[in-house]
Amino acid sequence: MKELVCIVCPRSCKMKIEFQHGEIVVSGNGCKRGKSFAINETTQPKRTLCSTVKTNYKEVPVLPVRVSGEIPKDKIFDVMKQISTVVVTEPISCGDIIIEDVLSLGVNVIATSSILKEIIKENG
Ligand code: SF4
Repeated sequence: MKELVCIVCPRSCKMKIEFQHGEIVVSGNGCKRGKSFAINETTQPKRTLCSTVKTNYKEVPVLPVRVSGEIPKDKIFDVMKQISTVVVTEPISCGDIIIEDVLSLGVNVIATSSILKEIIKENG
């Protein structure tokens, strides 16, 4: 038996997950979204990831980024390693792709700010 706190909504239901006859049985969930969360957490946990990348602009030395969709929890460290190798050399905008299909996971690493482009534009 495993215990898990649901993070889908602020109610934070405390759930119990048991394996019975080859099936996952969830209890303590306040709604079916919690059950889905518990099953996904047990079978294929995923997370979103926010980080920063370096730039070669001294006005904006780092730029915030995130993955465009959830990635397997056990790939977070590997994706962070990929992100740490990037140096932005263009004045990119929010939503621009920094790493396409990172580690073939089917998601992109994208910029979440246009500050670099705005500052470069302001400074001419
Ligand atoms: S089980 Fe439902 S009600 Fe409970 S925290 Fe999760 S989403 Fe919210």
